[in-house]
Amino acid sequence: VGFLIEPIQRVINVAVLYQEGMTGFERFVEMMEIEPDIKDSPDAIELKHANGKIAFRNVCFRYGNNQPNVVDHLSLKIEAGEYAALVGPSGAGKTTICSLIPRFYDIQHGEITIDGINIQDITLSSLRKNIGVVQQDVYLFAGTMLENIRYGKRDATDEEIIEAAKNAHAHDFIMKLPNGYDTDIGQRGVRLSGGQKQRLSIARVFLKNPPIVIFDEATSALDNESEKVVKDSLERLAQNRTTLVIAHRLSTIRNAERIIVLKENGIAEEGTHQELMNRNGAYARLQGVQ
Ligand code: ADP
Ligand code: MG
Repeated sequence: VGFLIEPIQRVINVAVLYQEGMTGFERFVEMMEIEPDIKDSPDAIELKHANGKIAFRNVCFRYGNNQPNVVDHLSLKIEAGEYAALVGPSGAGKTTICSLIPRFYDIQHGEITIDGINIQDITLSSLRKNIGVVQQDVYLFAGTMLENIRYGKRDATDEEIIEAAKNAHAHDFIMKLPNGYDTDIGQRGVRLSGGQKQRLSIARVFLKNPPIVIFDEATSALDNESEKVVKDSLERLAQNRTTLVIAHRLSTIRNAERIIVLKENGIAEEGTHQELMNRNGAYARLQGVQ
């Protein structure tokens, strides 16, 4: 019986998530049931439109019981509306830290709050409605460009979708595809670059228009033109919301209001690009590497 019930349950889950207006990756995670243990607490509250202040207090997280802490007693604050960036060596836990805010995983110690409310006391659906995530690897779904962007907001009009695509610098490349917005992702001859996929994902977030945005920059090499337009659309997206960016190319986050530099076990230093360059510490050394 198990093999019959499971696919049905999955279809129901997908339908529910679709209504909740989650963006692609979040739904992907749910569909794949990577973390089925994460549910609403019995008296979870609805988070309306958040101001977007985020705080980590003494947070510890490990992926498995017998594994070391990936996040070890981390405390950090991001003010509402702030444009903050996380940088640091590969494996320092940047992607992990970002995945804890929408509760893709639950922490083992400490607390994470939004506007002072513990995220474990907020309904998952309302928590995730307040957060737009652009993943390092963008998952696209079968369907047209229009449908793929519409994942950001289920009831969006075509005009809203085109506006979002323009903001994300996706409009021009979409218009050059064989059938424009009606081009099917899986259509023969359609091959999107990493930068183009990430721009589609940014368009979804523009459409969703959440007060908090988490952006995990693609690690794969972007061509010069993609790099420039991704940076530009990111800076537009950051306006009037709390933005946390993980950057692999330091040029991406030069204009961030605060850059948090991680080391193996915690925060090495923080400040603006100029402050950190003057300090001549970990951040300045990262610049040297690039
Ligand atoms: P960064 O984004 O800074 O490169 P990550 O957050 O991806 O770092 O990874 C931090 C550590 O957690 C690494 O040692 C990595 O191998 C481990 N890790 C990441 N994702 C998982 C996972 N899903 N399961 C187990 N370990 C993981
Ligand atoms: Mg990463």
